[in-house]
Amino acid sequence: MLSGESGSRARLKRDTRPARLQGPAHRLSAAVNPVGMIICLAVLLLLPGAGRAEPGYAQDRRDMVESIARMHGRHPVPAAGSIDKQVLQALRRVPRHEFVPEEHTDKAYANRPLPIGHGQTISQPYIVALMTDLLQIEPTDTVFELGTGSGYQAAVLSHLAAEVHTLEIIPELAESAARRLDRLGYDNVHVSQGDGYHGLEQEAPFEAIIVTAAAGHIPPPLVRQLKEGGRMVIPVGQPFLTQQLTLVTKDSQGSLRIRHLLPVSFVPLTGGH
Ligand code: SAH
Repeated sequence: MLSGESGSRARLKRDTRPARLQGPAHRLSAAVNPVGMIICLAVLLLLPGAGRAEPGYAQDRRDMVESIARMHGRHPVPAAGSIDKQVLQALRRVPRHEFVPEEHTDKAYANRPLPIGHGQTISQPYIVALMTDLLQIEPTDTVFELGTGSGYQAAVLSHLAAEVHTLEIIPELAESAARRLDRLGYDNVHVSQGDGYHGLEQEAPFEAIIVTAAAGHIPPPLVRQLKEGGRMVIPVGQPFLTQQLTLVTKDSQGSLRIRHLLPVSFVPLTGGH
């Protein structure tokens, strides 16, 4: 269990199974004291700028979503109609500024990728929206994400799916994403540390799988862990070049259909597989 951004570090199990990093949240444990609440409210109202930050970001999020819809309108993608309203609503709800390093907070709602440390990036919001849309998630679905990074994509998925399992290979990123998601109350997101190439056998099968690092080929373990009728989106191609965003669908008989949709650029899939 991770107790907060600056709290105790998670003890990582490094056995063959990826280490689960997230436990139940404790954010509702404080007793409610009406006098205390009034004092807190008064202090908040008196603080310069207090109470303005969130509405400001809400407008930034609306602008970001409009820019996504415009970009999608300009570049029609095969297999994707207009981006689903629920997906856009999820993007309007997730506080992206919480997922980027402090020095980039001012750019958090720009429609562009940003560095998150360790040579990794949080994806461009348009790509997050498009990949999420292609998965056609139902509220009862269990989703697997390879490449937790900041945890932003997992947070978006958590608004649409029943459970989200996400795996990150860099221990520091896995730990900080787990703490962040826990702090923000994303209770249906489960972060583990390990090589996502092998998927997450103990939680499979998944109705939807999303890979957010560039893979040279579609990992066979992920194909096996995709449920009949399920969908996977994955950038396929050489690292450091352009990859093809690829949609893999498995029909009710288990047959695969693979469609290359558009050129994209992702950080490479690493690991010893
Ligand atoms: N989805 C992330 C961005 C992903 S960047 C977000 O919303 O912020 C790609 C991530 O994939 C990086 O954090 C990288 O460390 C991770 N990664 C690369 N290879 C991996 C592997 N084999 N298993 C798990 N994670 C991997």
